[in-house]
Amino acid sequence: MCPYTFKDCFGRPISSAPDAWFDVVERYSNDNNKTLKRSTKVSRCLNLGSYNYLGFAAADEYCTPRVIETLKKYSPSTCSTRVDGGTTALHNELEKFVASFVRKPAAIVFGMGYVTNSAILPVLMGKGCLIISDSLNHNSIVNGARGSGAVIRVFQHNIPSHLEEVLREQIADGQPRTHRPWKKIIVIVEGIYSMEGELCKLPEIIAVCKKYKAYTYLDEAHSIGAVGKTGRGVCELLGVDTADVDIMMGTFTKSFGSCGGYIAGSEEVIKYLKYTCPAHLYGTSISPPAAQQIISSIRVILGEDGSNRGAQKLAKIRENSNFFRSELQKMGFEVLGDNDSPVMPIMLYNPAKIPAFSRECLKHNVAVVTVAFPATPLLLARARICISASHSREDLMKALQVISKVGDLVGIKYFPAEPLKQ
Ligand code: PMP
Repeated sequence: MCPYTFKDCFGRPISSAPDAWFDVVERYSNDNNKTLKRSTKVSRCLNLGSYNYLGFAAADEYCTPRVIETLKKYSPSTCSTRVDGGTTALHNELEKFVASFVRKPAAIVFGMGYVTNSAILPVLMGKGCLIISDSLNHNSIVNGARGSGAVIRVFQHNIPSHLEEVLREQIADGQPRTHRPWKKIIVIVEGIYSMEGELCKLPEIIAVCKKYKAYTYLDEAHSIGAVGKTGRGVCELLGVDTADVDIMMGTFTKSFGSCGGYIAGSEEVIKYLKYTCPAHLYGTSISPPAAQQIISSIRVILGEDGSNRGAQKLAKIRENSNFFRSELQKMGFEVLGDNDSPVMPIMLYNPAKIPAFSRECLKHNVAVVTVAFPATPLLLARARICISASHSREDLMKALQVISKVGDLVGIKYFPAEPLKQ
């Protein structure tokens, strides 16, 4: 029997509990931020909530000395905008390097991933334009789209046939191309959906966009560095030519253990953004040590540090993710998402189960992030596990045992279970 009484979905005694979400007082760089220290009774716990997909949010033998050198050379901040003295050789190197990593002709970088979406969309799109957005796109996209003044239409999450329906409706099917009522149409999707753990149906989406001559915008916050044979994201994983994606966006806050975001595209588009984007013209440039962390971690991923650690990290995150997902499924949980994705939501459904699940996991020193409305629909609450290459098999086994026990207690195993093999 579950010891928690669910008075109502937002019952005060449960939802106001201070330990329903984990409060961190310390993260340990020297163990890849894999464990956290909390302020309450639990002193150290296994971190299953970090976007530290490749374990670069840590002291790294290749990255860290270079980041420290950069800090000494340039200081933590340029204290200047890109156009007023805030562009160093490192910033130019970063943009070239990122463009070549994501296989696009050019790139522009920003100090924050969120701002990358919310500041770029109003520059690319405006009055008389149409944005067609996946229904589960991130808030930074939603805000950017709203700020653009373009008309926004939403298609059902990851359903290319519905995207086609929306497009047909919007371009007056049967009319000659010259009668197109929109200056520009852009379709915005994510590589891996952050609350679903699902891979974008990118080849199908691109086919629809080509048919209706719409531009494509791909947010790779959770996929760049984390999937694909050489970490180049969903295009590499799904065999998509990056020339077929007009605007490639991503963040450095996950696989690369840094901060900031990028837009990669054609020389013309990037040049246009550099001349016109207010966040580029009026915002301080990305911190030089953060820029160095990005360059160095990508070098490790590509084996340019002279080791094969990058390839090992990529193999490890894939192996860890697929192992963890399949074991959770065998236990009877409803787990969203696709193979190879390090993001795996375990469905709780009832929002009242959030504090119970989170608190019981914490009692066993396992920290999980739980998410609910407005980040998800009201009755689709979930625990969102993020797997890292830095998790050992032992860590994962421990986490599985705890989650299984808590799952029984809270009553969220919706399918018949198979026994857990050691
Ligand atoms: N896009 C997506 C899909 C995200 O999930 C996030 C944040 N997790 C962002 C953009 C914003 O990135 P950042 O946290 O680096 O600002």
